[in-house]
Formats: sequence, C-alpha cells, structure tokens
Amino acid sequence: MYSLLLFVILADFLREVCAISDVDIVPRDAWGARPPYMIEAMANPVPYVVIHHSYIPPACNTTEDCMQAMRSMQDYHQLNHSWNDIGYSFAVGGDGRAYMGRGWDRVGAHAPKFNDKSIGICIIGDWSADLPPERQLKVTQDLIEMGVRDGAIQKDYILLGHKQTKKKGATECPGDRLFEEIQTWPNWQNEALPDGKKETFD
Ligand SMILES: [Zn+2]
Repeated sequence: MYSLLLFVILADFLREVCAISDVDIVPRDAWGARPPYMIEAMANPVPYVVIHHSYIPPACNTTEDCMQAMRSMQDYHQLNHSWNDIGYSFAVGGDGRAYMGRGWDRVGAHAPKFNDKSIGICIIGDWSADLPPERQLKVTQDLIEMGVRDGAIQKDYILLGHKQTKKKGATECPGDRLFEEIQTWPNWQNEALPDGKKETFD
C-alpha cells in the first residue's frame, strides 16, 4: 500500500521534472564554437525573452546541418560585425535541440537596449511564411521554462519578438508567421516596456 503511494508520488514528481528538463542543450565545444573575444556578465534573472529567426542560414533538420548553421552565424557575428561572440543566448534547430550561444548569464548582441536584460533565442530558419516544425517550437518553449525554473529568467518575464524592440519597420525578425505564433505563447506582450517605462524607440 505504502509502496504504491510512494510510486504514485514519485511518478508525479518525475512527470513534473521531466516535463521541462529534457531540453538537450548542445554545448559550444560540440558545435565547434570559437572562443568569445570578450565576456560581459549579465545579472539574472532577466525580465525579457526576445525571439528571433535566423532568416539566413535556412532551416536545418539534422544535427550536422544545425551545427554548421551555428558556426556560420558565429562567423558572421564575430568576423563581419566584430561582435564578441555569436549574438544569441541560444539557438534552436529543426533537429529538436537547443544550441548554446552566449548562454544564460552573458550579455548578448541581438536586440540593442535589451541585450543586458534579456535571453535572445534564435529559431533557426526563415519563418516569414512558414511555421517552424512543432518540436522546434516546443523545445523553444521548454528552454524558456527551464530558464525560469533555474532562476535565469524572471517568473513574470515579458516575451517579445525582435521587431518589437526596434522602430516600426526596422526589422522583419522573427518573420511574420513566427511572430503570429509567439503572440499565442505565455507572457507575450504587445508593447515593450524596458524598466517599466514606455519606450518609443526613436
Ligand atoms: Zn532578430
């Protein structure tokens, strides 16, 4: 009787933990990251999550292709823009894995004015007309939940699409179709309110 009760409690516990702990984060070494030029520490938990699409490189469906996409984004950001590292905190591939960019506790380079108070997640692909595959969306949501659970993201965080952090029309990111999708996600907000103040981004 007691062992049955214990089993039920344990099964419940495992279900809760597993629901958000199964994000497979590919470490930087595994995808062949170059070291950052410089590291800027970020204070956690952060109040924002900013969603991006890569546009280029296109969607990747195998781990090999997604690793290649990570290297090409890091090349572009470090070698063409002279940024410290790949700009995003994380990227999520069509292979259903999350890739470590700058991670939870380093300032990124993906949305000026928000870089030091947000986790920037790039959903690899061009999502202007098409929706990313279900598992790519699910992993992105699980990653956000994991960040909240582990204290990297505030519980009452605000979810934004990249275009919401810029002047109207300045970027299409994260693509029309994906932008539509994230508006149905928890904590999405219509307006960006950095530090509780309304910003006009002029
Ligand atoms: Zn973007």
